[in-house]
Amino acid sequence: MSSQIDNPVDDLRSRIGLVQEKIYEAAVRAGRDPGEIELIAVTKSVDARMIELAGQAGIKTVGENRAQDLLAKRPLVAAPLRWHFIGTLQRNKVRSLIGRVELIHSLDRISLAEEISAQSTAAGVSTAVLVQVNLSGETTKQGLAREQVLPFLEKVSALPGLCIKGLMTIAPLGPPAGAREVFQAARQLAEQVKREKLPGVEMAHLSMGMTNDYETAVEEGSTMVRIGTAIFGPRSKPAKE
Ligand SMILES: *Cc1c(COP(=O)(O)O)cnc(C)c1O
Repeated sequence: MSSQIDNPVDDLRSRIGLVQEKIYEAAVRAGRDPGEIELIAVTKSVDARMIELAGQAGIKTVGENRAQDLLAKRPLVAAPLRWHFIGTLQRNKVRSLIGRVELIHSLDRISLAEEISAQSTAAGVSTAVLVQVNLSGETTKQGLAREQVLPFLEKVSALPGLCIKGLMTIAPLGPPAGAREVFQAARQLAEQVKREKLPGVEMAHLSMGMTNDYETAVEEGSTMVRIGTAIFGPRSKPAKE
């Protein structure tokens, strides 16, 4: 047996290295600076011990998609990680997350923006968020449709305690061409928003790309790829998306 299998940190390190190599190559292919792409290890259904090891193996940022899981695991992990929230967020979970997450990727409705704003203001902090957009037209996916994004931003950009940093999207499963179209549409939308120069709205980040499509996402301008399976292996139980 190879030492890679015997030592979980080495095993993680080599998987992470492979992903980083592919991010690097995709960035170079697209004439981009590989340093502007952040790898987020998606730790849904990964236990705290494994997250700790991922930290030792070089991961700096992790993404959780359930508030309860994030709150349960975070105190058990000593590694100095940044925690991002990437899943569907219920209003009643917002308070528990404020101050405990560096970035929320999934802002998709006014009532949620208002709650993040109110709880952040009460806690005396500012919360960074990405607006989740649904550009594939799949009704099963969360996120605002393209034409909803500007009116939405005009409404929420004035809210205190809320800092809009960019867009997040999930591509449809299927052939890479479909994902590429969605990623291109996200980048174009971000550029369109940028031209509006809305106060309090930055388009510094595009969170897009998962295990099956992150190389395409990097070629199309992603600054944050969210990778679970390629780092931790297939999930045994289907985690709630
Ligand atoms: C699970 C999940 C990911 C990671 O998916 P993989 O295919 O395992 O890389 C990324 N983003 C979100 C929002 C997720 O829920």
